[in-house]
Amino acid sequence: MGTVEPQVATTNTTDAQSQVTDGFQLVIDALKLNGVDTIYGLPGIPITDLTRRAQAAGLRVLSFRHEQNAGYAASIAGFLTQKPGICLTVSAPGFLNGLNALAHATVNCFPMILISGSSEREIVDLQQGDYEEMDQLAIAKPVAKAAFRVLQAEDIGVGIARAIRAAVSGRPGGVYLDLPAKLFAQSIDAEAGRKTLIKVVDAAPRQLPAPDAVKRALDLLKSAKKPLIVLGKGAAYAQADADIRSLIEKTGIPYLPMSMAKGLLPDTHEQCASAARSFVLPEADVVMLIGARLNWLLSHGKGKTWGGRAHKDWGGQKFVQVDISPQEADSNVRIDAPVVGDIGSCISSFLNEIKSGWAKPPTEWLNAVNDKKTTNVAKMAETLAKNPLPMNFHSALNVVRDIVKAHPDAMLVNEGANALDFTRSIVDMYKPRKRIDVGTWGIMGVGMGYCVAAAVVTKQQVIAVEGDSAFGFSGMEVETICRYNLPVCIVIMNNNGVYKGTDVNPTGGPDVAPTVFVKGARYDKLIEAFGGVGVNATTPAELRKGMEDAIRSRKPTLINAVIDETAGTESGRITSLNPTAKKK
Ligand code: ADP
Ligand code: MG
Repeated sequence: MGTVEPQVATTNTTDAQSQVTDGFQLVIDALKLNGVDTIYGLPGIPITDLTRRAQAAGLRVLSFRHEQNAGYAASIAGFLTQKPGICLTVSAPGFLNGLNALAHATVNCFPMILISGSSEREIVDLQQGDYEEMDQLAIAKPVAKAAFRVLQAEDIGVGIARAIRAAVSGRPGGVYLDLPAKLFAQSIDAEAGRKTLIKVVDAAPRQLPAPDAVKRALDLLKSAKKPLIVLGKGAAYAQADADIRSLIEKTGIPYLPMSMAKGLLPDTHEQCASAARSFVLPEADVVMLIGARLNWLLSHGKGKTWGGRAHKDWGGQKFVQVDISPQEADSNVRIDAPVVGDIGSCISSFLNEIKSGWAKPPTEWLNAVNDKKTTNVAKMAETLAKNPLPMNFHSALNVVRDIVKAHPDAMLVNEGANALDFTRSIVDMYKPRKRIDVGTWGIMGVGMGYCVAAAVVTKQQVIAVEGDSAFGFSGMEVETICRYNLPVCIVIMNNNGVYKGTDVNPTGGPDVAPTVFVKGARYDKLIEAFGGVGVNATTPAELRKGMEDAIRSRKPTLINAVIDETAGTESGRITSLNPTAKKK
């Protein structure tokens, strides 16, 4: 494609009338006008010049090695900032690579816009075999919250405004914006073009809960003998941290943070019931969900986890659900008191109502929760104190736990199976939105994309705890991390395989088992190829030193933490989802 052009192309005359702009420039201007400052993407036909010109216009354009990782970066940037993260890809294959992240954004309620260049509509629609021919809009629709295509330069402003509104208003999600190659080259009068741009006013309007819904919820909560609050990542997203803390402390109700809500209040808070999770879920009589869905991660609100006698039995709890989506209530079990609104407004309504006083939950309940916690915390401390050789997940994560405690502002990225489950339960978080992980689908592959976005958005040190298998999905982005010299310390829990490295091929044939990787692989060498720091850690002391050095130097670092290959269980904590387990 063409070369870099000036921001507004002018003919070499003094005639001001001849000032023209083009599609490329209008896209950039529309994004800038709406406060977008970063694009996560990968250049190529037809968007290479868009990346160049966006950079020339002062946007930060971060290039990745695979669109999926750029997309995951954009999605988590959306979660962290409440602004849509922008991912930019080429047509068909690049678009498809980005699609996974678009689906991820939609499923996790993260605001993101996937912008992809596409081939010529006239040829695509007649299926005449264009370069990278694909009806991208149709393919994006089922996994996007909304999808738009812009065909005329004068519609770029509207297209981007609609994409922004769709991404951040109500329940946030992933939006697809299709920009055909021809659009970029269209020239229009610069002044006329400027007038078509829209600066979105109040993109995510507050949604106030109805007063009777607030009252109904508080009445139910008041009636409880064993109340519980569950905080989900919607609560973290809402950035109503002080009010959420205030609600929890004023009511005195034990709370359970979902994975990405950890740190909303410090995990060490006396009302935090994480260490008594399997006790409080079946025991609670009224549960208030704040920005958390009763999906598989909460056993759909029923069954044995919730004290039901059989798989799909109701446990007897009553539910309050605070959510921005009016359709969320009753999706799995009956919600007795839905409160629909944005979490900030809902929580401040609750606070307003309880100003006049609130009776703390019965002491028997609080004592029972605390007893359970104390026992479980002591058990865990015993396990963490062990120092086996080779290291296991616990002895390695004990180090990470200390480091995060000493650096509570650091971002923690986490993915894997066992590496995920153990980190979630062992590593305490102290501040909101510091833990970002596999999310609603429990996916692998978010790791390095998340690291890039977390470093860029927060400017804080990033620590990534990665299973060796999980790391493989985005590992090439260590080059990206080194290229932008980001303060990222990647710790790979290397146990030689998926789940663990001990499976054998039952036929005795030359191939290793499907779950097994190269034994003794040195992932640390990978980052050295790009000028980063590689560390091979076989003991907790080596791991600790590696992490401390990384944080002190802020240099891109990859620590290969050698874990006992027999450590780990099939699918981590979700073994029950394997079909063979279901058959039993
Ligand atoms: P977790 O996995 O942590 O339980 P989920 O992703 O299941 O969290 O749930 C998040 C919920 O939060 C979604 O139902 C979503 O509609 C809701 N949500 C997201 N942002 C807001 C907001 N600003 N106000 C209210 N609800 C929100
Ligand atoms: Mg492994």
